[in-house]
Amino acid sequence: MSAQDQQPASLYAAREPIFPRRVSGRFRTLKWWIMAVTLGIYYITPWIRWDRGPHLPDQAVLVDMAGRRFFFFWIEIWPHEFYFVAGLLIMAGLGLFLFTSALGRVWCGYACPQTVWTDLFILVERWVEGDRNARVRLWNQGWDLRKLRLRLVKWALWLLIALATGGAWVFYFTDAPTLARDILTLSAHPVVWITIAILTLTTFFFGGFFREQICIYACPWPRIQAAMMDEDTLTVAYRDWRGEPRGKLKSTAPRGDCIDCRACVNVCPMGIDIRDGQQLACITCALCIDACDEVMDKVGQPRGLIGYLALSDEVAEKAGRPPRPVWKHVLRPRTMLYTVLWAGIGIGLIVALFVRSDIGVSVSPVRNPTFVTLSDGSIRNTYDVRIRNQQGEDRVFTLSYSADAPFVMTLEGEEGHETVVPADSQKLQRLYITAPAGTPAATMAMTDLRIWVTAPDGAGRVHADTLFNGKSE
Ligand code: SF4
Ligand code: SF4
Repeated sequence: MSAQDQQPASLYAAREPIFPRRVSGRFRTLKWWIMAVTLGIYYITPWIRWDRGPHLPDQAVLVDMAGRRFFFFWIEIWPHEFYFVAGLLIMAGLGLFLFTSALGRVWCGYACPQTVWTDLFILVERWVEGDRNARVRLWNQGWDLRKLRLRLVKWALWLLIALATGGAWVFYFTDAPTLARDILTLSAHPVVWITIAILTLTTFFFGGFFREQICIYACPWPRIQAAMMDEDTLTVAYRDWRGEPRGKLKSTAPRGDCIDCRACVNVCPMGIDIRDGQQLACITCALCIDACDEVMDKVGQPRGLIGYLALSDEVAEKAGRPPRPVWKHVLRPRTMLYTVLWAGIGIGLIVALFVRSDIGVSVSPVRNPTFVTLSDGSIRNTYDVRIRNQQGEDRVFTLSYSADAPFVMTLEGEEGHETVVPADSQKLQRLYITAPAGTPAATMAMTDLRIWVTAPDGAGRVHADTLFNGKSE
């Protein structure tokens, strides 16, 4: 046996080009609507205006990297409130678990950006080069002027969409109209150009050329999803007990309802045959359901040869029993547990949002030295107080203390006990607390001390606890 014969067979398989055919039907219509809504939200959101006062862009949704804050309409998230973002991410994860356990890969099939943009790119491709048969012919023919023209028009349109996608993304990070002006006058920051270039190229190649390969090879989600689905999950399936043995319409041999027209295969954006059973590559976009329903209507057979179906229903239907109602598949302990967890976190975040204060304070004692003995024998401690003003206007805050001992409080650079904190910012205010000579706090090692910060007109009050260091004998 030669060394070459002993080589393991190559696992590489060249990509088979896919030319999805146009299809119409209820799921296709639903997908068009979802595409319009999701793309609309993505492109329009940065342009929604929202009054944020004189110091910030009047933008409803803004990721302020410089100020390390996130603005979402009336909600403003500061870095110390990252638990809101963490909570939203957990909710998104639980939402995916919920939908996957109830309806399989519904996220992949309808709302995933890869699906939405690929769908849009296929729409453009079909518009420029024609439907499936014309595209197959074009693919197989040699290069000529017409093919070059069609390809260039298609790539140019894809590039425009990709550019708009990358362009829209950067608008979320700064004032959109200002940035648009900077882009048009070629005066935008290099980071803007680099971000647009990266997103343009990834959108262009992912939506135009890689398409289903991203879903099959690059995305980890299909592998994880299998663990969330069970025999009650509704997913797209072929009723083989009804369709088999398949056979051509004109065939005189005994056959099932499937006329082997391959319409379901030809519309599939993943290029698979659902009649082979559930497959990892199936994104449950349901276009094969529309295609097959169309065929069943034409041949006068009941719809539903391909449909949303649970494994448990397959068993029942094969045995001649009716499938369980949809709500019984959706409402079951697993999905209810996900819903309860999802809603619990959501309610927790809403409550946290309403009870949170728009003032913040933290106190750091200056420990070098821990105290200073003044000429009259009194003991002074120094503190760095960080006051956060989360409102869109400058505010005058009053500082005070509470303790079981008498103290004298002074603010560095201020006459009294008030300090101005600019809008939407944090101020570092140095504070001195002095214990008169001979008082308990001056002679004890440590005394509990609470620093209070009060908003103007008493519209909020927060505190931070610390210690006063005395000169113990
Ligand atoms: S088999 Fe059907 S549901 Fe699955 S990806 Fe293809 S068209 Fe979509
Ligand atoms: S579209 Fe329906 S009838 Fe045609 S091949 Fe697919 S399952 Fe069979």
